[in-house]
Amino acid sequence: MARINDHYRKLRAGYLFPEIGRRVKAFQEANPKARIIRLGIGDVTLPLAPAVVEAFRNAVDEMATAEGFRGYGPEQGYDFLVDAIRKHDFEARGVSIAQDEVFVSDGSKCDSGNLQEIFGASCRFAVVDPVYPVYVDTNVMAGRTGPADESGRFTGITYLPATEANGFVPEPPAERVDLVYLCTPNNPTGAAATREQLARWVAWAHANDAVIVFDAAYEAYITDPALPRSIYELEGAKECAIEMRSFSKRAGFTGVRCAYTVVPKALTGSTDTGERIPLNALWSRRQSTKFNGVSYPVQRAAAAVYSEAGLVQTAAQIAFYMENARRLREGLGRAGFTLFGGIHAPYIWMRTPRRLGSWEFFDRLLTQAHVVGTPGAGFGPSGEGYLRLSAFNSRENVDEAVDRVRRAFGA
Ligand SMILES: *Cc1c(COP(=O)(O)O)cnc(C)c1O
Repeated sequence: MARINDHYRKLRAGYLFPEIGRRVKAFQEANPKARIIRLGIGDVTLPLAPAVVEAFRNAVDEMATAEGFRGYGPEQGYDFLVDAIRKHDFEARGVSIAQDEVFVSDGSKCDSGNLQEIFGASCRFAVVDPVYPVYVDTNVMAGRTGPADESGRFTGITYLPATEANGFVPEPPAERVDLVYLCTPNNPTGAAATREQLARWVAWAHANDAVIVFDAAYEAYITDPALPRSIYELEGAKECAIEMRSFSKRAGFTGVRCAYTVVPKALTGSTDTGERIPLNALWSRRQSTKFNGVSYPVQRAAAAVYSEAGLVQTAAQIAFYMENARRLREGLGRAGFTLFGGIHAPYIWMRTPRRLGSWEFFDRLLTQAHVVGTPGAGFGPSGEGYLRLSAFNSRENVDEAVDRVRRAFGA
């Protein structure tokens, strides 16, 4: 008998996006003429930047020649990409990262889900609530939690509520945890941690011998130059933090697939007997066993993001999305909604009117304005009472969505 992994059965059946899809499909079938505007799933909409496409094409052409053909690449990524990452993402911010501390991958979703494997089964972990669901679900699958309660909270996880009162950036927990996932700028709330807030997290990690998994997927959307873009800009972070970055939101690579994770060599975990083991060696072992690298053309395309033209073109894409975010914020703000985020992230975190439940407001938005958002409760219990709107769409759709929501709900 092939016994299944019972931990999978603890996961809530309806993953957020399939449930949204089901409701949208049912509404569309009942109302075939309605033109639905989707501000739900956080996926980019602009085509790849020309500099990226050119590098991508050239690399495919190289692969078509005897001299240019390449088979398996270096497991951690090609030097040309790793060096561009080190120079532009870190050295430019005064941070020095060694070549063998960067691990190029096919996505931060996989990295954030896989990282938990190098930690012991008894590790206690904390997440901000609401949160990107991958951190929680992959630890549930690995058996690090008990079952979920009515509100969706799993026993064995420390939830750190992100609320209006703390500006959606919680302080470190008082109780003991070994591992914490931080995502800033945040999906779904759009909040970005300040240098002082991150410094408190780093100090806490040192004091508690804990590890921070820092997801910087939206780093390129930060508009305030005073905000840290990498956790390594904080003193002491290399001894306590892993950082993940992705080309998905920064350069429209959600369908191309390229990301990277930094595991500093100074970062260690401990064995039962207290011996210190570098996490870099464990992650390297994990990746070289289970992963065979990102394709050569994709890595060339990613490296082109850092070319002179690539930087200008991708900055223009981000500016386009952020103008959408500004229009959502201001347009809906004028209609009387209370909104957060949308300044350092492409997400608007909208308080539901009249304390409506987030699924109830989702349904009203769909049926009355034909606009799709993401119910906050889908990201965790503390997301109840909020709805996430994404700025990833055309200008026309964003303006039209603002108009419709104002007409349907405006004060
Ligand atoms: C979109 C997103 C990512 C990126 O995932 P990829 O697998 O690199 O596409 C990572 N973290 C968060 C929080 C995200 O929203």
